[in-house]
Amino acid sequence: MIYQDSKTLLDVHGLRASVNGIEILKGINLTVRSGEVHAIMGTNGSGKSTFAKVLAGHNAYKVTGGSVTFEGNNLFDLEPEERARAGVFLAFQYPIEIPGVANSHFLRLAYNTTQAQRGKDELDPLEFEDFVREKMKLLEMNPDFLDRGVNEGFSGGEKKRNEILQMALLEPKLAILDETDSGLDIDALRIVTKGVNQLATKDNAIILVTHYQRLLNYIEPDYVHVMAGGRIIKTGGKELALDLETRGYDWVSIEQRAAARA
Ligand code: ADP
Ligand code: MG
Repeated sequence: MIYQDSKTLLDVHGLRASVNGIEILKGINLTVRSGEVHAIMGTNGSGKSTFAKVLAGHNAYKVTGGSVTFEGNNLFDLEPEERARAGVFLAFQYPIEIPGVANSHFLRLAYNTTQAQRGKDELDPLEFEDFVREKMKLLEMNPDFLDRGVNEGFSGGEKKRNEILQMALLEPKLAILDETDSGLDIDALRIVTKGVNQLATKDNAIILVTHYQRLLNYIEPDYVHVMAGGRIIKTGGKELALDLETRGYDWVSIEQRAAARA
């Protein structure tokens, strides 16, 4: 939602980044204010996940130009874990498995680290168990998932739910959800998006990365951005997503090239 008294959370100017010496992001501009939901759409390979991972601080990607601030501070001065503690959360397109580390332990560690950062009380294992079970109800997750290794043998949809469970626990200021809808059947999609909607407040913001319009039937974006070739080439309201659904992506690039020539 767009609020009058919102403040800028994320400010991206001319961001360029490369991986293995190949430039993938070629000058991204994006401003995200509190309360807003932004959708980033685009065909496969347009750089959406790269953008998400650069914001989270993934070490495979080298920032080669531009600037990014989060709440006014240079994001690139922060290590990935400091970004997380500052309230930037990334739900991965392909969540990693950590066999041998109990999900409950992992989630509690993440939760307590955030609580400590915010000067709030940490929870012992028993207290945490009650707390996390409540959050799991929101996502209709079976508590048995607490005792398994982190994402170990989870189905695609179960991994996505576990990512949103982390989001529910950490209450990030900026959540970046990369293809959270992929691999979800319609019931799981409904449950996960209901969870995300309940977590959205006027003080936080969400960036949804997706290439399907379907997700946006469940989570209504304030802005839709189209990415192509490592740039945001068009921005519109939620109706732009419907246009993309019916007309595909090609017309956006054609329109943009025509505008560039004019
Ligand atoms: P999207 O999420 O929009 O599908 P990605 O950001 O995953 O796109 O990828 C953008 C481009 O960057 C693709 O051409 C992809 O092959 C390339 N790319 C991403 N990561 C790597 C990597 N680690 N090594 C080489 N190329 C990469
Ligand atoms: Mg991707």
